[in-house]
Amino acid sequence: MTSDFEKRLAEETLPPVIRHHFSQSLFPDHMPSNRLTEFQKESLREVVTRAYENLPFYRQKMTQAGVKPQVINSLSDLAKMPFTTKNELRQNPWALLACDKKDISVIHVSTGTTGGQPIYTIETWKEYYLNTCINYPRLQPIEQDDLCFVALPYEMSAAGLDFHTRFLVGYQAAVMAVGKGGAYSTPEKTIKLIRDLKPTVVVTSPSYAITLAEAADEASFDLTSLRLKKIWLAGEGCSPAFRKRVEIIWGTTVNFVYGATECGLIGIECDAHNGYHIAQGHVLVEIVDPKTEKVLEPGEIGEIVITCLLRFDTPLIRYRTQDLGCLDPQPCPCGVPLERLHLRGRLSDQIVLKGTAYSPVYLEDFLMQLPEVGNWYTFVVKTGENEHLKIRTELAAGVKPTPELAEKLAVKMGSAINIPCEFELVSKLPRLAQKAVRVVYE
Ligand SMILES: [Zn+2]
Repeated sequence: MTSDFEKRLAEETLPPVIRHHFSQSLFPDHMPSNRLTEFQKESLREVVTRAYENLPFYRQKMTQAGVKPQVINSLSDLAKMPFTTKNELRQNPWALLACDKKDISVIHVSTGTTGGQPIYTIETWKEYYLNTCINYPRLQPIEQDDLCFVALPYEMSAAGLDFHTRFLVGYQAAVMAVGKGGAYSTPEKTIKLIRDLKPTVVVTSPSYAITLAEAADEASFDLTSLRLKKIWLAGEGCSPAFRKRVEIIWGTTVNFVYGATECGLIGIECDAHNGYHIAQGHVLVEIVDPKTEKVLEPGEIGEIVITCLLRFDTPLIRYRTQDLGCLDPQPCPCGVPLERLHLRGRLSDQIVLKGTAYSPVYLEDFLMQLPEVGNWYTFVVKTGENEHLKIRTELAAGVKPTPELAEKLAVKMGSAINIPCEFELVSKLPRLAQKAVRVVYE
C-alpha cells in the first residue's frame, strides 16, 4: 500500500471498515487469520446492508428469500442470502448501482466467453482505488524498481487495465501498456520493446506467451537472457504441463492470477503451484453444488460463488461464476495463511464423451507431456456413432508428421485419459488475438 493510501486512510475518505482494518504495514497476506475474519465479517455485513437499503434488485431478492441483512452474524450466514446469476446481470448495467450515477468512475464489459448479452461491471473511484491498493506483497512481490509489461487486452476487457493499475498505483512499479493484439500491438513490436526496455515482469495469457516466444524466435532473441523475475498469466486456463513449457521457454517461474471482470481479483498462485491463495481481502469464496445449490465442504468440487468485500457502492453478493473448483484446507508450504482454491475448469467448457465430462485443462496436461507434440492444438469432439476425441495438433520443432507417429500418439494419449483418440498432425494452426480456442465440436 502506498503513502497515498495512508493519507486517504487518515483523511477518513474511505469506508470505516477499511480504515479500521488496513494500514500501510498490514496486508491481507500478512494479517493474523482472526483479524482477517473480523474484517470479512464486518465488510460483509456492510455490503449486504447497503445492497438491501439501496438496491431494489437485492431488496426484492432478499425479501423473496425471507432474509434481511441482520441474519449475517457469522461468515457462514452468507449461505442464507440469495444468489446472483450472470443472466440477471446481462443487459442490466445499473442493476448493482447503490450510489449516485455521478460517482461512477470505471465501466468494464465481460469478454463474453460464456456467450449471451454483455455484462457491464461498474466501479466508483473508491472501489477502484481499494481494489488496487489492497495488495498481497507476499504472493506478488512487485517492487518499485520493477518494470512490468502488461501484454493483455486493454480494450473492452478489464484484464490489462486491472493489472496495470494494481502494479502502478498499488505497488508503485513502472508499467508499460503493451496490450495483446490491439491496433498497434503486434507480437513482433512487443518483442522489439522487450528487447529495448528489458522488463522484469511480464503479464500475459498462456497462449500469448507462446505467440510472443515464436516472435522472439523469429527475431533470434533468447528470452531466457532477460532473467525475468516472473511471468504472471491470466485470462485462459492452462495445465501444469503447458505452464512448464512456458517456464522453460522464458526461463522464469510462471504463476497464475484468477479473476473475472464481474468480480475482479479472486486468487493468486504462490511458487508452490498448488492452487490459488484466495484474495481474502477482496472476496469471500463459497463452493456450491450447481444443482442443489447447497454449500459444499472443502475438497468437494462445485461451482465457485463470489461475494465482493470491497464493493460498497456496487455490491455483488453470491455471484455464480460458472467456474468449477474446490477449497483446500491444508496449509501451504509457502507459509501464506490465505485459504487455497483449486480450479477445475468451466461448467460450460467441459468436454462430454461417452457420458463422462472432462475438463480440457485435464486433457491438455496429458497432451503437453508428449514431447513430440507442439504448443498449438485443438480438441475436436467427434460426436455421433463413432464418438471420440480428435486432437488436431502441431508437432514440436524438427518432428516429422507420419501416420505411424499419429498412431503412436493416439495410443499413448488414449491410454492416459481412457478415451478413444485420433491425431491429425497439421503444420500450422491459426494464432488468434483473442483467447485461444481449444475445443470445437464436429
Ligand atoms: Zn502458497
